Amino acid sequence: GRGRTEVTVLVLGLDNSGKSTLLDALRPPEQRVHHSQPTVGQQQDHFQSSGVSFSAWDVSGAPRHRALWERHYRRAHAVIFVVDSADHLRLVVAREELELMLAHPDMFGRRLPLLVFANKCDANHALAPMQVAAALGLERITDKPWHICASNALSGAGLTDGIAWLARQIR
Ligand code: GDP
Repeated sequence: GRGRTEVTVLVLGLDNSGKSTLLDALRPPEQRVHHSQPTVGQQQDHFQSSGVSFSAWDVSGAPRHRALWERHYRRAHAVIFVVDSADHLRLVVAREELELMLAHPDMFGRRLPLLVFANKCDANHALAPMQVAAALGLERITDKPWHICASNALSGAGLTDGIAWLARQIR
C-alpha cells in the first residue's frame, strides 16, 4: 500500500464552520496552538502527524482566492468538508462550494474519499446528519466514497468515528 508519509488531507468548509477547532482537536496535545483571527482565503491551518498532513482552507473567501486551495486538489488523498449544522441559511452556500469542488477537473471522477462533518451538532437547532446530507445533495455523488458524521469539534465527539472511516478508505 501507500506509505503513510504521503497522505494529504484537505479540510475545506465555509468560515466559522469549525475547521480550526476541529484541526486543533485532532492535533497531538504538544502541537496545539492558540489561534489568531483566521485570514480569509489564506491557508488557515496546517499540521502533520504520523505521516498525515492536514491543511484547512476557508472556501468562503473572495473568488480571487479560489486558486489558493484549488491548486492543492491534485495532491489530496482525501477531503474533509466541514459544515455548521446549525447555520441553515448558509447550507445552500456550503452546497454550492462543495459542488464546485466536486466538479473541478482535478477532483471530478477521482475515487478520493469525502468525509463530511456535520459539525456543531451540540448547537441549538442543529440539523441531523441525514438532513445535512440531503441539504448538500450528497446522494448525488457517485464518483467518490462519502460519509457523513455528526461532530462537536469543541468536545471532540464524533471526530474519532469520522477519522476512522477516512483511514479505512485511504489504506
Ligand atoms: P473556522 O473558521 O471554520 O476555522 O471555524 P472555527 O474553528 O474558528 O470555529 C468558529 C466558531 O465556532 C468558534 O467560536 C468555535 O469555538 C465554534 N465551534 C467550532 N466547532 C464547534 C462545535 O462543534 N460546536 C459549537 N457549539 N461551537 C463550535
